[in-house]
Amino acid sequence: MRIDIATLFPEMCEAVLSESIVGRARKKGAIEVYCHQIRDYTCDKHRRVDDIPYGGGMGMVMQAEPIYNCYKAVCEQTGIKPHTIYMTPKGSVFNQKKAIELSKMNNLLVLCGHYEGVDQRIIDKIVDEEISIGDYVLTGGELPAAVLTDAVARMCSGVLSSAECYEDESHFSGLLEYPQYTRPEIWEGEAVPPVLLSGHHKNIADWRLEQSLKITSEKRPDMYEKFEKERNKHKK
Ligand code: SAM
Repeated sequence: MRIDIATLFPEMCEAVLSESIVGRARKKGAIEVYCHQIRDYTCDKHRRVDDIPYGGGMGMVMQAEPIYNCYKAVCEQTGIKPHTIYMTPKGSVFNQKKAIELSKMNNLLVLCGHYEGVDQRIIDKIVDEEISIGDYVLTGGELPAAVLTDAVARMCSGVLSSAECYEDESHFSGLLEYPQYTRPEIWEGEAVPPVLLSGHHKNIADWRLEQSLKITSEKRPDMYEKFEKERNKHKK
């Protein structure tokens, strides 16, 4: 998979996406991520990429043309039109299901806004979907783009060591994950649940499922209800 990120602050995205698991996946070629400086695509001699909003109001709006030039350059490089996402608090809220869906695509282009956002006409022209990372407003789309890229990348084959690494995790199956423990067996007088030391795989799996159900019902009753509904549907 290839993910292109169009931004005014490529270093911000690079700083996050060059580290740890995603950074290593990029180095070994399991995924490709390219961060593009939108400013490199402006024809303005002062390298301006924004202007005041028509109709008045606070702040600046990113102009359509430099973004469009950047988009066209990516299309030329890849030879196809990438599935284009605009990170915006107005978008549908990102979740694990969307991360899995996007990980099946070969090419994504993620557009990061700044200031008051981008000219609506570029959204209308190139954007396939608008995605938010939550109901709050950040200063720019770089952190949202990094969040989306990280979540999508770890679903791509070769990024994590195996699918088991994510299949048990919170949200993948519609439940939150069971509690995790590591050495030592006793810490500050608190022991690890004995079943985890038993070596009995079925008992461990049963305990983990029971814990997942309990934690989900306590912390996310909305998710629990949905999970139970699905489970009952399959039982019928
Ligand atoms: N004026 C915009 C509004 O009210 O919807 C907010 C603009 S925000 C200050 C600047 C940029 O940050 C946005 O264009 C978007 O790319 C990004 N951004 C801010 N919050 C976000 C969120 N929750 N999810 C995704 N992107 C976000």
